[in-house]
Amino acid sequence: MTSISNRLQAILSAIQAARQLAHANQAVQLLAVSKAQSAAAIRAAYAAGQTLFGENYLQEALDKQAQLSDLAIQWHFIGPIQSNKTQAIAQHFDWVHSVDRLKIAQRLNDARANNSVPLQICVQVNISNEASKSGVLAADLASTAAAIAKLPHLQLRGLMAIPAPSKDPYVQSQQFKQVRQCYDNLLAEGFALDTLSIGMSDDYAVAIEQGATIVRIGSALFGARN
Ligand SMILES: *Cc1c(COP(=O)(O)O)cnc(C)c1O
Repeated sequence: MTSISNRLQAILSAIQAARQLAHANQAVQLLAVSKAQSAAAIRAAYAAGQTLFGENYLQEALDKQAQLSDLAIQWHFIGPIQSNKTQAIAQHFDWVHSVDRLKIAQRLNDARANNSVPLQICVQVNISNEASKSGVLAADLASTAAAIAKLPHLQLRGLMAIPAPSKDPYVQSQQFKQVRQCYDNLLAEGFALDTLSIGMSDDYAVAIEQGATIVRIGSALFGARN
């Protein structure tokens, strides 16, 4: 378990190094992506100082949350969302990064009504424009964001994206640039946003260079998933 602590320190150092190299002014938070990891692994990362954890699958997350209820974890939902899961997601998470259509936002809003703290929301952007990929198309972002911003039990914080995987840092940076452009467009239209959720184990330094404020890191922290 010490290796989780060692890897956490190495990632936090690498995040700071990437910020300095890019002369990035924004603060960057590490979201530890704990899908397919045990409650014990999450507990070890928490003991080493990590407090933000991201999960993709509702039932798996609920099981681990029940085992970790003694910890002050901030839980982020980052996986695909089916309509029939919105009630539980709204009640058991602090943030949702993967809002990919207005109907999901409306359902999360309704389910959050009895919680005094709004659910923190990122809209997932589909930058590759493939019909198969989830996310809101760039052309529809402003209208979607405007509708979400009106929902009283949600707080719209920014954008999330999962670009097509690439080992080429140039391709990675071009994809992140598109997300950043979408984000800047929304800021220019007056949306009060502060969160750009981009970057994973293989590309987080490039994402930070392009303005990431949350990097979502799984395997580099916990090791390969089964
Ligand atoms: C699994 C996952 C991650 C983390 O991926 P790694 O490559 O293990 O860092 C980040 N974001 C989302 C949405 C994921 O599903």
